[in-house]
Amino acid sequence: MKPEICNFFSVPDLFQQDHLLCIQPHPDDLEIGAGATIAKLNRAGVKTTWLTVTDGSAGTDDPSVDPVSLARTRRKEAEKAAALIGTADLTWLDFADGGSLPYDKTRSAIAGVIRKLKPEAVLVCDPWLPYEAHTDHVRTGLAAAEAAFLSHMPYFCPENLADGLEPHKVEAVAFYYTAYPNTFIDVTNYWELKLAAIDCHATQFPPAKGKLLKDYLTAKARQQAQDHGCELVEAIKVLSTNHLHIFENAWQC
Ligand SMILES: [Zn+2]
Repeated sequence: MKPEICNFFSVPDLFQQDHLLCIQPHPDDLEIGAGATIAKLNRAGVKTTWLTVTDGSAGTDDPSVDPVSLARTRRKEAEKAAALIGTADLTWLDFADGGSLPYDKTRSAIAGVIRKLKPEAVLVCDPWLPYEAHTDHVRTGLAAAEAAFLSHMPYFCPENLADGLEPHKVEAVAFYYTAYPNTFIDVTNYWELKLAAIDCHATQFPPAKGKLLKDYLTAKARQQAQDHGCELVEAIKVLSTNHLHIFENAWQC
């Protein structure tokens, strides 16, 4: 049951935003976490831009794979997937993949992108997902949430301002891969598109692994849809930036 205090700040509607900056630690996370939602937003006229934080060069079990060429291939896979989802603007930070993301530099780089592109809303993986063991995900999620929350302040990451950028206020932050969803988006008509976008990542999902992932995502989407009168949902957490500091009930809102 949602506590009364949650109504103190309203939960923004992503479909009312002009521009959503979608951030992922690795090429493929946006499709897996929110690909159908982004496809639906694109077709509803919301501008989306994708920002990929790492180069994806560690995404292999095979030590004979060259990481530089893997990063190049993964970028092509992501471009193909984004085209299916309907996003044309892709930005890359190219930090090294593999769990050693430098927090301060990542936060500054994301703040720089926010100040350059001026989105009303940011979508990123939830850094407060219990048991999340991948540091790239935790640091990307937190760096993006912090940058979204503080980029309007001139003394936050001031190095961006020396580059000619200006402070910018983000109104909403949405999280995929979340344990505390508050927004259930009917994506029944976009599900096949999401699965096709995941299939673009051939380096990550050979057929058996891809099938397992897609079956899991579909079972979850069907289960989460049960109380929402549709067949398949993506469940995300949407908050205003006001929720992101000293607001103890945010996880329940
Ligand atoms: Zn990832």
